[in-house]
Amino acid sequence: MSAVVIESETTTAKPGLREGAFGNATTLSCRECGHQVALGPFYACPECFGPLEISYDFPAVTRAQIEAGPRNIWRYKALLPVPDDIETSPNTEPGFTRLLDAKNLAAELGIAKLWVKDDSTNPTNSFKDRVVACALSAARELGSTVFACPSTGNLANAVAAAGARAGIKTVVFIPSNLEQPKQVNSAIFTENLVAVDGNYDDVNKLASEIAGEEEGWAFVNVNVRPYYAEGSKTLGYEIAEQLGWRLPDQVVIPVASGSQLTKVDKAFQELIKLGLVEDKPYRIFGAQATGCGPVATAFKAGVDAIRPVKPDTIAKSLAIGNPADGIYVLDIARRTGGAVEEVSDEEIREGIVLLARTEGIFTETAGGTTTAVTKKLVETGQLDPTLETVIINTGHGLKTLDAVSGQVGAAATIAPTYAAFKQTGL
Ligand SMILES: *Cc1c(COP(=O)(O)O)cnc(C)c1O
Ligand SMILES: [Zn+2]
Repeated sequence: MSAVVIESETTTAKPGLREGAFGNATTLSCRECGHQVALGPFYACPECFGPLEISYDFPAVTRAQIEAGPRNIWRYKALLPVPDDIETSPNTEPGFTRLLDAKNLAAELGIAKLWVKDDSTNPTNSFKDRVVACALSAARELGSTVFACPSTGNLANAVAAAGARAGIKTVVFIPSNLEQPKQVNSAIFTENLVAVDGNYDDVNKLASEIAGEEEGWAFVNVNVRPYYAEGSKTLGYEIAEQLGWRLPDQVVIPVASGSQLTKVDKAFQELIKLGLVEDKPYRIFGAQATGCGPVATAFKAGVDAIRPVKPDTIAKSLAIGNPADGIYVLDIARRTGGAVEEVSDEEIREGIVLLARTEGIFTETAGGTTTAVTKKLVETGQLDPTLETVIINTGHGLKTLDAVSGQVGAAATIAPTYAAFKQTGL
């Protein structure tokens, strides 16, 4: 791979970038051909149109330095494309969510040691606050005037909230059929919620078009996507740190675009290279819904290409029919000895109830998918139940109440008398 930074009309860093705007990040590198581009609002390789990813020149980073940092993702700022003074800019301060020892769910699934990384407790109740915090920093450093996104819901919530705190104009685009709670959870933070008559892939296409036309708009998952995506690495860092600076044997991660899964793997690799954890084998598993499982389908068929699908599932936050990072998810699942599995909407509902009844965690449909896939992976012998396993709960059930409101409810309606109570048998 050449280390040449090319300078052309489309890839020159914006003048006026301050020194250290992106911390220890050095360039944007093409994941397909290795071509390098100067840091700026770029996401596609000018040579081959492959996705660009942040490269770094990391200084020596110690466990003690990280542990002395704040109890949020900025404790890992040396490993992110953010400036050293990031903590002074208003943001949502997500991260350092609990890693829960899930003994009851472990017993239920027959897994020896199981942890739930519970990202439903982030500021807007999903893991998206992590990626948006990094995107906001990039948007600021690039001098963007509008903070925007196409979203399946959670991202819109996170963008609208972070933008409100930062005092930057936000515009969020969602598919018009999105769950009502996710719409309200955005509209409460911004007046500029745009419902698009189409599915997520249509919304995404529109956003790319707007990003190409409108000066100064930072679309977190489009033109500042390389910076945004790095935020997911903090999930991997936290899991390792919270396990006492070691890697788990197996991780189960939900897959929409697939970005999060690839970044957890990147985080583990970086920690090994930096000597912050011991090198050891680990397996990464992806979780999808049958109604939108293009990566699971390709995995099972043993093929490299992902055929886009039209999503039809209650797991709307995972409903990306043409996942940008799908091929990299396949690579990682195969390289690490993991798998990508899918479950039906009925299994997703059961997964939500299972996690709630065993661990007291109310997850959204994405977490129901991850829980149900974990169960299926054990039942089909793909996940080794004797190995230490972490599953990631990425969102909160209060945002997808409709998914389970038909499933659970009052045990009985009774007259306010002791006799009527006794009749319930409780
Ligand atoms: C966005 C999202 C995901 C998946 O993220 P990708 O990085 O696009 O794969 C998983 N869970 C929830 C709740 C999400 O909102
Ligand atoms: Zn390229």
